[in-house]
Amino acid sequence: MKAIAITGQGGLDKVQYMDVERPQIAPREVLIEARAVALNHLDIFVRNNLDSLKLATPHVAGADGAGVVAEVGAEVSRVQVGDRVLINPGLHCGVCEFCQAGEQSLCVRFGIMGETRPGTFAEYFTVPQENVHPVPEGFSWEEAAAFPLVFLTAWRMLISKAAIKPGEEILILGIGGGVATAVLQLVKAIGLRAFVTSSNDEKLQQAQKLGADAVINYKTQDFAREIRTLTNRRGVDVVVDSVGGDSYAKSLASLVKGGRLVTCGATAGPRPQTDLARIFWNQLSVFGSTMGNLREFAEMLNFVRTRGVKPVIDQVFPLAEGATAFARMEEGKQFGKIVLKVGNGA
Ligand SMILES: [Zn+2]
Repeated sequence: MKAIAITGQGGLDKVQYMDVERPQIAPREVLIEARAVALNHLDIFVRNNLDSLKLATPHVAGADGAGVVAEVGAEVSRVQVGDRVLINPGLHCGVCEFCQAGEQSLCVRFGIMGETRPGTFAEYFTVPQENVHPVPEGFSWEEAAAFPLVFLTAWRMLISKAAIKPGEEILILGIGGGVATAVLQLVKAIGLRAFVTSSNDEKLQQAQKLGADAVINYKTQDFAREIRTLTNRRGVDVVVDSVGGDSYAKSLASLVKGGRLVTCGATAGPRPQTDLARIFWNQLSVFGSTMGNLREFAEMLNFVRTRGVKPVIDQVFPLAEGATAFARMEEGKQFGKIVLKVGNGA
């Protein structure tokens, strides 16, 4: 079968459209004939860290995907051949103390599709049966493939970690990225005020169309100072920072006393300068967050389904042009999700 596979650690030349063997299913697994799959920053991380992840090459990339069930293992009861499904990309052991407590994304053997097992960027991929969910009515294949990872990440950060409340104001850094855009969509669907930053005015305009209440170009403006102006010197209740790097101290400086910062990524660098005095004196909380547990996935899916919140699709490429899609993500050109269409996508 055709796949987008990573042939070794390195740059874009290691992303290749090639023939690989069609995977076999275990008794509790499902084989899915892919219709659409979506890119995440994780895919670049995997390519850059292939050696330390100890993955065999060629390695099929990809965390997100949707398609039709083509085959089920002998012990599968959850779905049938022909079902239209999307997947929860998180993988867990099911037996460790964290899994038993219902916190699957804290699992001691937690992994993600395309990171710890072959991924979705292929004509066929396999997943454990508990990872499979029906595609919500009215969702295209591209939409079904695009939202699970980023909306799950956004859901855990906002609902479980920051525990957002009516009337609060949220600052979202680096709008245009998949997670940041999902956070904005959820915040607006829930009905709170959202401020966003970017260095790109076009992305800021697109964020306004999604309902951002104020936009800040961090290249030309000091965003912490702007936030003070926008909030009558108070500061925002919550900052969602998936950027890190030089922005981090300013994120802390944007918070109200007792405010909360949630981080799920560090695309600008994982070891930023911080400000401990501000953290203890203003009694700030800093939450780390990764993906989500099974309950959060179900809650998020239900919210998306009943509220009709659909992911923003940046661009759709055929599977064969996977390397071009990787390049677009790496250059940070996208607003929303980059999707690969598999087969005729019908
Ligand atoms: Zn576990």
